[in-house]
Amino acid sequence: MSNDHRSGQVAAADVDLAVRAAARAAYLRSYPADTTRADEYAERMVSDGPYRADMTAVLAALAAVGRLMPVDEETTHLVQLREDGWTLQHPLSCRPTLFTCEVNQAATLALTEPPATLGVFECGTDGGRFVIGAAR
Ligand SMILES: [Zn+2]
Repeated sequence: MSNDHRSGQVAAADVDLAVRAAARAAYLRSYPADTTRADEYAERMVSDGPYRADMTAVLAALAAVGRLMPVDEETTHLVQLREDGWTLQHPLSCRPTLFTCEVNQAATLALTEPPATLGVFECGTDGGRFVIGAAR
């Protein structure tokens, strides 16, 4: 299967979270009682170019091996077609309605036979019918 759609894609919001957590922890290691300054330091580090680049590289490495999904910037459904079945990846916006997702319902009806082409594709519905789009 292809993981190309994940390589190097890291949501900016995820980098913010990681930088804040690491910077805060580093500050508190030296000044355990000073949580106010630790928070200020964490906010400063969010806009620190080199530090941010390091953190982006860490997250991109995790994303490249499938340990971190770029959910914040993914706005479409992705379907992974394998010889032994399929898996639907929902965008973050779909999470509140996951169990009634119409893309999932349409895919369940449509994907009943082994696919002719394997890989990861954008997908959605058109008038209730399951539609497979561009490869990722
Ligand atoms: Zn969905």
